[in-house]
Amino acid sequence: MFYHRKETMMPVNVGTPDAQFGQYLLEQFGGATGELTAALQYWVQAFHVTDPSIRDMLQDIAIEEFGHLEMVGHLIVQHTAKLDQTPVYEAPLFQMKGIGPHLLDSHGCAWTAAYVQSGGNVVRDLRANIAAEAGARQTYEALINRCDDEGTRKVLVHLLTREITHAQMFMKALDGMGKLGDPMFGTVEPDETVNIVFNLSSGDDYRGPWNEGKMHDGQKIDYIADPQPRGTIPASPVNSDDEQTLTPVGRPASGTGDR
Ligand code: MN
Ligand code: MN
Repeated sequence: MFYHRKETMMPVNVGTPDAQFGQYLLEQFGGATGELTAALQYWVQAFHVTDPSIRDMLQDIAIEEFGHLEMVGHLIVQHTAKLDQTPVYEAPLFQMKGIGPHLLDSHGCAWTAAYVQSGGNVVRDLRANIAAEAGARQTYEALINRCDDEGTRKVLVHLLTREITHAQMFMKALDGMGKLGDPMFGTVEPDETVNIVFNLSSGDDYRGPWNEGKMHDGQKIDYIADPQPRGTIPASPVNSDDEQTLTPVGRPASGTGDR
């Protein structure tokens, strides 16, 4: 059951409406890093999570994200709904769609479920959620840096803050499973290359904790400075429709080329 209260979680009071900024705000309404993506991602994930405590956390955060979506929506309304509508209609997205929020990002791209990361394993989901929170936080920072209106900034700083809190909750949940620092999860055992690190971009090479010392499981990292292929050149496909013009160096031309 959903029950909606019309009061917003925090006050939303725009001082000086700015239709162009309203368009930027769409990024957090119908954009990839936006609140709709977060809300639906966590809510949908909750359906397949076995652990009731993790499911409860996902549902709590999902519903908070819907509250964020509502606040971003009201910000967009206030930035685009003024008695003088001229600047609103100079912001291209609102020319065709009218004032208020739409399920578009700041460039007019339609929201898509492809933004949502969910499926199969709770560790995978929680890691995707940390990435989602990082994306949301960064977009709020970009918005705050382009915002002069004090009332709007206050809401955006709150929304940015909550994404940090959520990231922390997901990290603590993973830590509780012993999966915050452990890259392994699931049931398929990795092969013998798991502790090998390849240097596959040569020149100006660096060593760091990712390619020297020990892996999480205590195994020594095997750094291969000059990796060599273990496989051979695959056989050419058989394609009778294809042009047969090139002959590999050192191999005699086949008998078909009597031109
Ligand atoms: Mn949020
Ligand atoms: Mn969040």
